[in-house]
Parts: sequence; C-alpha cells; structure tokens
Amino acid sequence: MDDTAFLKIQGLRKSYEYVDALRGVDLTLARGDFLCLFGPNGAGKTTLIKIVADLLKPTSGTVEITGGPDLDSDIRSRIGLISHQTLLYDELTARENLQFYSSIYQIPDPDDKIDSLLHTVGLYNRREERVSTFSRGMQQRLSIARALINDPVLLLLDEPYSGLDQFAATVLSNHLKKLHAQHRTIIMVTHNLTRGLETADRIGILSEGRLVYLKDRDEIDLPSFEDHYLMHMETN
Ligand code: ATP
Repeated sequence: MDDTAFLKIQGLRKSYEYVDALRGVDLTLARGDFLCLFGPNGAGKTTLIKIVADLLKPTSGTVEITGGPDLDSDIRSRIGLISHQTLLYDELTARENLQFYSSIYQIPDPDDKIDSLLHTVGLYNRREERVSTFSRGMQQRLSIARALINDPVLLLLDEPYSGLDQFAATVLSNHLKKLHAQHRTIIMVTHNLTRGLETADRIGILSEGRLVYLKDRDEIDLPSFEDHYLMHMETN
C-alpha cells in the first residue's frame, strides 16, 4: 500500500444474481479527502459504500483502510455510516439511541457528547421522545448524530440529504465542512449537485459500475462537469 493512501480500492467487482453492480472500481483516497460521488440510479454507488463499510463482500477486488500512527489499529470502529437505513431503534428515545451506540463504541462519559450532537442536529428538545414518533427527516437527523457518535475518521454518507429540510441540509453541509477541516476522510453519495459540489474537494461519477470521472473540485469547470453528468445520466 502506498504511504499516502488512507483508503485504497483495487479492482472492485460485485455481481448480484442478475446484475454486475460494480465492474472494476479503482480508487485511492488520502486522509482528509472528501469525495462526492454522483451517478444515475443503479450505478452501483450504494453497493460501493456498503462494501467499504464492510457490510457487503465484494465478488472480487480489495478495500484497504490504513489508520496511520495516531489512530488505533481497529480503524473499522472509527467509521461512521449514514445509509438508507437509519439503524435506529424505534422504541428507544433519541437520547437512548445515542446512549446505546455510545455503549457499543465504549465511549466513556458520553452524556456531553450526546447533548452536543442532539443540539447540532436540532433534536435536543425532542430528546426524550421515541424514534417511532419522529418524522422521516427527524429520523435522518438522528441518524446523522448516530453516525458521528464514534468521532469517525472515515465517514460514509449515502444520500445524507434525503428527507432533510433546507435548514437541516445547511446544518449538515456546514458540519461536513467542519469535519473536512478536521482532516476526516469522507465519501458522500448524493444526487444533490449543489450540495456535493459546495462541500467536497474531489468529485467522481460512477456509471454502470465504473468510475467514469474523477477530478479535484478545483480543476472542475462547472459547465463541462454538468455536460459529463448529464451525458452519464442520459446514457443509463
Ligand atoms: P440509486 O441512485 O438508485 O440509489 P445506486 O447507484 O446506489 O442507485 P445500487 O443500489 O448500488 O445503485 O445498485 C446497483 C445495481 O445492483 C442495481 O442494478 C441494483 O438493482 C442491483 N442490486 C443492488 N442490490 C441488490 C441486491 N441485494 N440483489 C440484487 N441486485 C441488487
């Protein structure tokens, strides 16, 4: 593995019964990179996120994540995931859900951290209410707090803006910018071009299981990127 790589994906393929969802993805991210991945429905984005999160085994290929000297050897416990499933317990309150995840990650004295995250996602006043009574957007907000509870060094976000109102979406964007400034490595899948382009520093397009576009945000000329994006959306 090369010294600067934090995450290295090589020759990643995933075949389901009828579909080749990933057809050979190679990608290297340095620590602190923030990659936003766009692509049409069915391109393989969620499959890629799930494999990196170790929730799904690839058909072939490898994903290597290295911590570096200042991180524990168990880097996998420092991954945060926001996915289509909120991974919340309906019968627990907002606070109890975060307490539960704090205990899983063995976070010492988590109360202040829980309160702070509840404030960040705007749910502090609803903290004693059960998740089953929350709207979809509120559940998504709590899911964001859940994903941040273990102070992740690698954050995997699959459609994190889904269900969020404008205010919550802006709070999330600002928080992601803060995490990026703290040198966290982030991969975000979204269909929201504006949010993706304003937060990430690397931009990719996945189409039909292949990474067909990858550039630093600084190098991107917006009109030509939009042409690329539309071309891949249309050919799908
Ligand atoms: P979207 O933008 O719609 O969320 P995506 O890029 O995240 O799409 P994936 O969910 O990774 O796409 O799906 C890629 C392909 O793999 C699709 O053709 C999908 O039908 C297929 N697929 C995904 N999960 C499964 C599964 N469990 N079993 C069979 N096929 C699957």
